[in-house]
Amino acid sequence: MRHCLTRAVLAAALIAGPANAAPATTAAGGGGWQPQQTPGFYRLRLGDFRVTVLSDGVASRDVSSIMSNPATVRRAFADAHQALPVELSINCYLIDTGSQRVLVDTGAGELFGDTAGSLVANLRAAGYAPEDIDVVLLTHIHGDHSGGLSVGGKRVFPRALVYVDRRDPAYWLDVQHETQAPSTRRLSFQQSRQTVNPYVAAGMLRTFDGDTEIIPGIHSVTEYGHTPGMNGYMVESKGQRLYLWGDIIHAAEVQFRHPEVTIDYDVDAAAASATRATRLSDAAKQGYLVGGAHLSFPGLGHVQALDQGYQWMPLPYSAKP
Ligand SMILES: [Zn+2]
Repeated sequence: MRHCLTRAVLAAALIAGPANAAPATTAAGGGGWQPQQTPGFYRLRLGDFRVTVLSDGVASRDVSSIMSNPATVRRAFADAHQALPVELSINCYLIDTGSQRVLVDTGAGELFGDTAGSLVANLRAAGYAPEDIDVVLLTHIHGDHSGGLSVGGKRVFPRALVYVDRRDPAYWLDVQHETQAPSTRRLSFQQSRQTVNPYVAAGMLRTFDGDTEIIPGIHSVTEYGHTPGMNGYMVESKGQRLYLWGDIIHAAEVQFRHPEVTIDYDVDAAAASATRATRLSDAAKQGYLVGGAHLSFPGLGHVQALDQGYQWMPLPYSAKP
């Protein structure tokens, strides 16, 4: 009896042995911890509209080397217990109005390496397909906002009309401007043509001129400076407002407290700084919800005025949108 029991236990141990080796099982099964965050989307309601924030991933940047006041930048990041380079979120926003599906910005597509370009995967994970998008609203033409429009020269959103302030294509798609621009900006011109021109060729690019109602409940707000034609989009339904700004803030740790700090990507740094001051002041005074492309995902919250500068008040997480 004892002999039999021992043999049975031994047999069970032999069978169970490999299965109990947890790391091997996890790897073979594909479950458990993995070195990536996905899917990345976050849902909220805005009146009758359904909003889905979509992560395109991140861009890692040592912002102290590309911003106007390196000492202020380094101190702000140290105070926030954050190391440089920092991973800047790249957020896109899908607004389902019930009759139209409107995507604000498209992420970086294939332009920024493997830490970005996740928009389409996250769109699908959230229950939508690229073919579902009726309208794309670009805050501005820049690799991490318009880059996801096309991959391999093909339109990612085949049915979508793409809207942008006329000043941005007039600048970024014009070879004349490229030859006059600093050499550090050449790549942006090339990437702009590569990703926006397929929509021009298909007759799917629409331009507007400054503050405009694009579709019922969504109007553009000029934010000129960072690029010649940057705009934010005010989304409103049943009296609830969500303002989706473009590149008003790249580094939250610095630029809410110090709105005068600019970044090398600004085409006109003085105008960009003045626009930031205006938009922050308006957001603090009016108290609407803000969504920011480079604020830590999902980049939703409110702006509060301080004696000097502003602070960011992230929206609390909600499990049931
Ligand atoms: Zn930009």
